[in-house]
Amino acid sequence: MDRILRGIMRYRVLDRASMVKQFQAVKDNPTPKAVFYTCMDSRMIPTRFTETSVGDMFVVRNAGNLLPHSQHFMDEMTSCEPAGLELACVINDIRHIIVCGHSDCKAMNLLYKLKSKEESNKEQRRISPLKSWLCTHGQSSLEKFIEMNGDFTKPMLFTAETPQRKFVAYIDPENQFCIEDKLSQVILLIYLIHLCTGVLSAGRKKR
Ligand SMILES: [Zn+2]
Repeated sequence: MDRILRGIMRYRVLDRASMVKQFQAVKDNPTPKAVFYTCMDSRMIPTRFTETSVGDMFVVRNAGNLLPHSQHFMDEMTSCEPAGLELACVINDIRHIIVCGHSDCKAMNLLYKLKSKEESNKEQRRISPLKSWLCTHGQSSLEKFIEMNGDFTKPMLFTAETPQRKFVAYIDPENQFCIEDKLSQVILLIYLIHLCTGVLSAGRKKR
């Protein structure tokens, strides 16, 4: 905590003046070009590795970078991710969506453990918000991953509700990554399909 407080003090002395100039430059007319979805992991610093700055993009983060399918969107139970999509793509007319996973994701590692019924039963979900979140929005993707039965030499087909929206992908064909990182890659591709459903849902609402 001391380190963070010292950082705030240093920022106020060294960086704030130049940042205020950047804020003023975009204050009345920000034109963000992308919405960036990623995990809340402390090792992920999207503005640094994309070299973006004030006003460049929206960032939506959560535990494990899960993106719910639009079927989960209900007025009283919606989550932040589709709301962020509407804010970015409908209200701000952003045309680029980036979904960025990462290796050694602790949430993905836990999701992989949830393939065991003991880890994902109702009692476990009741006492753990993280397990509940992962089961609700990651379980169907986990099942799809398990169906592959460990054969990653074959291409995997990803299909949305409409047949025009589909693509094929190879998951780690050279077998370089651990099983949890493979799961992370598969889930990320499934979420690209979910994003299509979210964009369509947000578009319908606007009309
Ligand atoms: Zn993560």
